[in-house]
Amino acid sequence: MIYLDCQATTPLAPEAREAMLRWLDGPEGTGFGNPHSPHRMGRQAAAAIDAAREYVAALCPPGGTVIFTGSATEAINLAMRGAPGEGSISVSAIEHAAVLDTAEALGRAHVLNVAADGQCNPSQDLPDNVSLVCVMQVNNEIGTVQPTLDWHRKAKAANALYLCDVVQAFGKQEVASADMIAISAHKLHGPKGVGALWVRDGIELAPIITGGGQEQGLRSGTLSPALIAGFGAAAKLAAERMEDDAAHVEALWNRALELFDGWTINGSTTARWHGNLNIRREGLDVARLMSECRTVMFSAGSACASGSGRPSHVLRAIGLRDAQAKSSIRIGFGRYTTMDDLEAAAQAIMSAADSQG
Ligand code: PLP
Repeated sequence: MIYLDCQATTPLAPEAREAMLRWLDGPEGTGFGNPHSPHRMGRQAAAAIDAAREYVAALCPPGGTVIFTGSATEAINLAMRGAPGEGSISVSAIEHAAVLDTAEALGRAHVLNVAADGQCNPSQDLPDNVSLVCVMQVNNEIGTVQPTLDWHRKAKAANALYLCDVVQAFGKQEVASADMIAISAHKLHGPKGVGALWVRDGIELAPIITGGGQEQGLRSGTLSPALIAGFGAAAKLAAERMEDDAAHVEALWNRALELFDGWTINGSTTARWHGNLNIRREGLDVARLMSECRTVMFSAGSACASGSGRPSHVLRAIGLRDAQAKSSIRIGFGRYTTMDDLEAAAQAIMSAADSQG
């Protein structure tokens, strides 16, 4: 099997796995302590969490706090539901469902336009009553990178807070400034089931989960030392390897452009994370293609939207007709993808696509 779906999730780094094992088993069965207990085992687990928090914070801007959550979806909900202000929430049309659906659920959604190249231009107007702006750094479906610094400035000028979903960028690119940042461990070779919200100092959030008062009262519930240690190890590794990983992804991207010659790329090719190749071929039956390439793990859209039968909201937002959106595939590669994997997968996809005529 060849894995080319790195936007949906990423393989666990061996270093992250190793860091987790200590908090599952030993030594001598002492790894299971509750990190909120004051005794020795508890303090050891708490120290592992503190260390992981430092590694995650090192990839965030200075002057803020990392609050661990169960996922980026939870982090986004904490930011959007817990932030002060009752005004409109301006969201780019290509945000992840965690952002779009939460803004809708709160009855405060205002949608920002996205151009054909996948850019959400900060020259567009914000509503007078805006209290929160959400524009992601790297889009999960088409990989386009947004001018987050400009969006933060724009939000500030409108007296609004700026939440940046950096899930697809964290550990791969520098994170620019924001008031709140949502992160997910499993997109940077960490484990699933753990994420974080980074909150700039001075911003007062209200909790959405109450109880034991963990995470500065913002996220009650016992933390998982194993998941968090894995997250920390993944963040540390990503920081150390950021340049090497980017160079590897760039080499794969350049080869992918040759291999998929003749396909049309959805979204900008330059303002883009090059580990995301979202391409289309007129008239392609993607469902048939996927069933004929069962040993290649790739996507027909975002992992959340695929299978729903609905054309992707992202491809629609950049102006694709339904037929074009439905003839698009997403190939996602990263640190552990080899050139041989990419070439073998491309050959399988190309020959299945060619057989459709
Ligand atoms: N935001 C983006 C851009 C994503 O790609 C994802 C996951 O697909 C999420 C948020 C949600 O992350 P999690 O799986 O941690 O809830």
